[in-house]
Amino acid sequence: MFKCEVCGKEADKHHIVYRSQGGVDFPINFKYLCPEHHRGKNGPHKNRQLDLKYKLELQEKLEKILVKEFYTIDELVTLLKINKGMLKRLLREYKLYKEGYKKADIIYRLMGKKVYTKDMLENYCDFIANF
Ligand SMILES: [Zn+2]
Ligand SMILES: [Zn+2]
Repeated sequence: MFKCEVCGKEADKHHIVYRSQGGVDFPINFKYLCPEHHRGKNGPHKNRQLDLKYKLELQEKLEKILVKEFYTIDELVTLLKINKGMLKRLLREYKLYKEGYKKADIIYRLMGKKVYTKDMLENYCDFIANF
């Protein structure tokens, strides 16, 4: 049983970058949330600002984990615990340099082909309009 990361109650698995947004199955894209903190009004599916906050946290985590400019598929599998076949498919459309895939491309793809910025939290209304 998973526990809600907010309140400790029994939880479901939430994809921080939703699958419908191109989100990928790998551990740091998951957040465990109880029904209220998942789909309730205090959860990311209803509260866009919270949704954005979780996405920014994920993007920051990726920036911290990926410290080099380039990564090979095998390195990414080890670091991010992503399924190798899936990862190959995801990165197929990006340029493979001799050192590997570019960090920026990897993060961009894992974030569902978006770059999130702190401004989005401040300019929250603009962000929603463009979402
Ligand atoms: Zn909860
Ligand atoms: Zn969810």
